[in-house]
Order: sequence, then structure tokens, then C-alpha cells
Amino acid sequence: MIDQERVELMANWIRYAARIEPEALELTDEQIVALGAGLSRNGLLNPPTPASFEKKLLFYRCEYCGKPQFRTYRTRQPRYCSNSCRQAAYRERAKNEDQKCAPIAQGALVYNP
Ligand SMILES: [Zn+2]
Repeated sequence: MIDQERVELMANWIRYAARIEPEALELTDEQIVALGAGLSRNGLLNPPTPASFEKKLLFYRCEYCGKPQFRTYRTRQPRYCSNSCRQAAYRERAKNEDQKCAPIAQGALVYNP
């Protein structure tokens, strides 16, 4: 029998390092502990603080369509209402990036019919 407190602690390591809910991975308690323990030994990761896992409530407007949203989050504040808005905003940014003119190199020949 695995100590549930240890399972929860190791689940927090997975949430923290992989930004994913361990339930979504359909892991057993033994697997959660094994994966979490491996992550906790990684010298590059700072230990998660309890505040990292607190669910924060946010009321915001989607930056793309402006739809009001009410959502919880753990690490990064959401900016869009859906993946389709996030993707559309990305396409818009990429399009605007394309339209910017590259500076003309000094001494370059400019074709001007
Ligand atoms: Zn939206």
C-alpha cells in the first residue's frame, strides 16, 4: 500500500515539470511515484512550492475574439478562450511578421522596373 500523501507529492512533481495532470496520463499510483521520484532527483528542476499548484480563478477576455471567460489555471494565465482563437492569433501575428520589410543591405542592387 502506497502512502497517499507521497502519491500526491509526486503527482505535484509531474504537474509542475510536465504541466499535465497525472490523471490525463492514466498512470497507476506506483507509476506516479516512480515518475515523480525521478523528476524530484533532477538537479535542473527547482522543487515545486505549494503555491505552484494552487488553482487561481481568473476572469478575462479572450485576446482574439474578446469573449469573456471565467477559468481556473495553475501556472500560466490563459489568454484565449479556445485553441482555435490561440491558433488564429498566432496566424495573424505570423502574417504581420511577413509583411514587415527587411532592411535593404548597404550596396545592394534594388530591382525597380
Ligand atoms: Zn476567443
